[in-house]
Amino acid sequence: MSVPQRINDYITAMRPAAICNRCLAGGVGLSNDAAHPAQVTGALATTSDFTQKVAACSRCKQVKKVIRAIRS
Ligand SMILES: [Zn+2]
Repeated sequence: MSVPQRINDYITAMRPAAICNRCLAGGVGLSNDAAHPAQVTGALATTSDFTQKVAACSRCKQVKKVIRAIRS
């Protein structure tokens, strides 16, 4: 499965909780150094299925840019 697909599935599984890029990278088993989840989430955020905003991450509780799935 491709990395974007894994990220897509992970965010969808988290729904309706929002997650930041860092927690997302850890959640799908990517290292922050090797992966660029921000690029993927940025692309996902342009679709109607996901929304990105600054809010508290459901995992690390830090207020930062997070993404969540609007529908499955
Ligand atoms: Zn987080």
